[in-house]
Amino acid sequence: MLRIDLRSDTVTQPTPEMREAMARARVGDDVFGEDPTVNELEALAASMLGKEAGLLVTSGTQGNLVSLMAHCNRGDEVIMGHDSHTYNYEQLGAAVLGGIGPRVVPNQPDGTMRLADIEAAIMPDNVHFGISRVVSLENTHNRCGGAYLTPEYTDAVADLAHAHGLKLHIDGARIFNAAVAQGVDVKALTRGADSVTFCLSKGLSAPVGSVVVGSASFIKRARRVRKVLGGGMRQAGVIAAAGIVALTQMVDRLAEDHAHARRLAQGLAALPGIEPEPVHTNIVYFRVRHPFYTAQTLQEALQKQGVGVLALGADRIRAVTHYGITAADIEDTLAILQGLLCK
Ligand SMILES: *Cc1c(COP(=O)(O)O)cnc(C)c1O
Repeated sequence: MLRIDLRSDTVTQPTPEMREAMARARVGDDVFGEDPTVNELEALAASMLGKEAGLLVTSGTQGNLVSLMAHCNRGDEVIMGHDSHTYNYEQLGAAVLGGIGPRVVPNQPDGTMRLADIEAAIMPDNVHFGISRVVSLENTHNRCGGAYLTPEYTDAVADLAHAHGLKLHIDGARIFNAAVAQGVDVKALTRGADSVTFCLSKGLSAPVGSVVVGSASFIKRARRVRKVLGGGMRQAGVIAAAGIVALTQMVDRLAEDHAHARRLAQGLAALPGIEPEPVHTNIVYFRVRHPFYTAQTLQEALQKQGVGVLALGADRIRAVTHYGITAADIEDTLAILQGLLCK
């Protein structure tokens, strides 16, 4: 059993308030548009992110897929980062199921793509080429150490995309982490976007679900796509009820997770053979350069002591802070690591 589970913020348990709200939720058939709790969540999410409408989906993966399929026709292209979740961890669903091609641009270490690289990836109107339809950003950026994109950068990408007739999609699985870390209203990070997906089920601690937001006409198309993908749920208000608690009670506390991540990285920097990467939000990556351990064997040694982390690559480990992790858990983790590494 993992006593301290830092593998991901997807392991969060629903709060007591969520379980209570789920038990009490008024529900109806959401495919008929008749689940009052789903409708409330969708409206709340849309208003918080400054959009006209929202759509509850089963997962972040489904949210990105629904969004790209609602924006694109077969043969269209989506410009995305080479380190993006959508390119690496979603089985290229938009290509498999939507006939949509990824056009990949390098991610910089801060999670951005250079504006010049994005512009160069927009295909001219020519019979040889696919049609560029969407630019997809990721905020915060998972593989780039949880780095956040700023309002200024996001606006610049939106302007560039729109000047060329493209849409901007944001994979905002952790966009509330990005907002809290910068002390800005999340609307500042979404105002230029034509669609945004965010996860209820990560740091916001709901058990299931993500929400897509955008214009009313976009969400109408997205609703059709969700149905053909098998994502039309019926009495989904039991899920949405937890999502409403997530949005009303769990956003501001993300600052605690960020503080815990900074403390973890600070402690890691003092340990022999461990090199933490810069920390921006709730994700801590560190290199293992120790005579006795690889990332894999250190992960296994930690697991034996009840601490979960994820080895990603030969010498890189990821630890993620979340609602289930206390300040004491961080100190315990550092003490356990000290014991292993200083033997
Ligand atoms: C977790 C994640 C997703 C997908 O979410 P699931 O709910 O696991 O499908 C999408 N994008 C990013 C950046 C993520 O971290």
